[in-house]
Amino acid sequence: MIKNKDEKKEAKHSSLIVRWVSIVALTITVSFVIFSVVVYQIVSQQSINQQQETSNNVITTLDRTLSSIPDELEISNVIPSLSPSTRRILKGGPAISSKDINNGAFSDNLIASISNPDINVAVYNKHNEIVFTNGNTAPEFKPFTGNRMTEQVARKKGKMLITYCKVYSSVNNKLTGYIVVSNGMTYYNHLMSNLLHWMVIISLIAIVFFIVISYILVVNVVKPIKKMSEVAKEVNADPNSGARIKELHRDDELEELATSINQMLDRMQSYIEQQKQFVGDVSHELRTPVAVIEGHLNLLERWGKDDPQVLDESIKASLQEADRMKHLIQEMLDLTRAEQIDVQYPYEVSNVNEITRRVVADMAMVHPDFKIQLDEDDLPADTEIQMYHGHLEQLLVILIDNGIKYSTDRKQINVSAGVTKKDVNIIVQDFGEGISEADQKKIFNRFYRVDKARTREKGGNGLGLSIAQKLMASYNGEISVESVEGQGSQFKLKFPRLTKKKAAKLRKLNEKKQMPKSNLEA
Ligand code: ADP
Repeated sequence: MIKNKDEKKEAKHSSLIVRWVSIVALTITVSFVIFSVVVYQIVSQQSINQQQETSNNVITTLDRTLSSIPDELEISNVIPSLSPSTRRILKGGPAISSKDINNGAFSDNLIASISNPDINVAVYNKHNEIVFTNGNTAPEFKPFTGNRMTEQVARKKGKMLITYCKVYSSVNNKLTGYIVVSNGMTYYNHLMSNLLHWMVIISLIAIVFFIVISYILVVNVVKPIKKMSEVAKEVNADPNSGARIKELHRDDELEELATSINQMLDRMQSYIEQQKQFVGDVSHELRTPVAVIEGHLNLLERWGKDDPQVLDESIKASLQEADRMKHLIQEMLDLTRAEQIDVQYPYEVSNVNEITRRVVADMAMVHPDFKIQLDEDDLPADTEIQMYHGHLEQLLVILIDNGIKYSTDRKQINVSAGVTKKDVNIIVQDFGEGISEADQKKIFNRFYRVDKARTREKGGNGLGLSIAQKLMASYNGEISVESVEGQGSQFKLKFPRLTKKKAAKLRKLNEKKQMPKSNLEA
């Protein structure tokens, strides 16, 4: 059953090729047919016009000659008129006279036309009886309206033109007879049948050629799409699958799409992995305070109600754990938010001098037992970075707080800020327990603590540095550590330096962004 479904789907895939090729074939065929019909019609019309002109010329010449006869056309007056030599010979004169040449009876045109095997001429009298013909088959007479009429007659051998003309005497304007000229149009019929023949052959070759080319092109496009679809199906069936689209080596949009899909899958899987780990870590971290609170509540239930000392101790411990949980939840929220900074605060600018001074002063006030020094000698006045001021404060608090938490005898923290050509650097240095080289690589991981039990004592959840790293990455900055065990550590924040121009531009954009909000509030 499943196989059947798959087969059906497979058939659907190939239908893309069939559909595409059919559309191309149909389009090409229709285009060629339209083109051929138009060309055929134009050539045909032009050639017929030319043939008609030939017929008309013959008729005009004959008409001019015959209209000089005043009486009804008869064999006796037509033949001598069209053939003056006969008349003269009968009279005993010369065969050709200069007069004949003058009246055009032997003009090149007439001779040429009448001698044309395609042209057959017949002259009829008023009673429709034939009185002259030049060919073996005299074109037949039929009644017609008007002075001149042309019709196309289809025969087995092809088309034929027949032109009918009334002859009026130029002397008394009376109808004296009719001229009928047929034009076999051998050249035209030959030309048109050849044209049709070649058009059909060329059209067929072109259609086959385009079908083959479009098939090759379509297969070339569909193949990688099929590969992508297979990978998507595989990952759909197993989200942890490592299936990826192989490099296509084609340097086009499909290659780009494949790369994007691969990157998207990598990212998606890393998110899934992170999410899983995060849920695991969080439940693990929350288990301890919950267990502690539960323990104290059990204690209270059993003996605490009557023992004021147990009651007091348990309530204090439970409150402390609840506070720790609150702190942990806040840090977890900060960590999640730190990943979406670029969307929330795209144009924020912070003044480094102002914020470092304020945070150092605040921390010094909270920890009077510590000497917290600020060195801003290498920091030009009003140095700015692209960052929301709350985040710069948070970063400094995390680092100074850690320095304080992990200090030993020497209770001193040095904060120094300075610039290089491209960067702004802030260094927080302590002279505490330091971090081993192996641990330096792990301290930025979520929930990582070098000494779990001791850190917990100090109120650490192992999230501060992860938040700091996420924040720095979101603002295109970097955080690094240098530390020697037993001597102390130094954490460095490196931010891209903002030019005055860029800072002003960002501030303007930020104002614009805030505008609709304040308008709404108003
Ligand atoms: P915590 O809230 O536990 O301090 P952090 O992510 O800030 O979490 O730090 C992770 C671990 O790195 C800490 O548990 C501690 O072991 C170590 N650490 C951080 N800062 C320092 C420091 N200045 N000196 C020594 N160890 C440090």
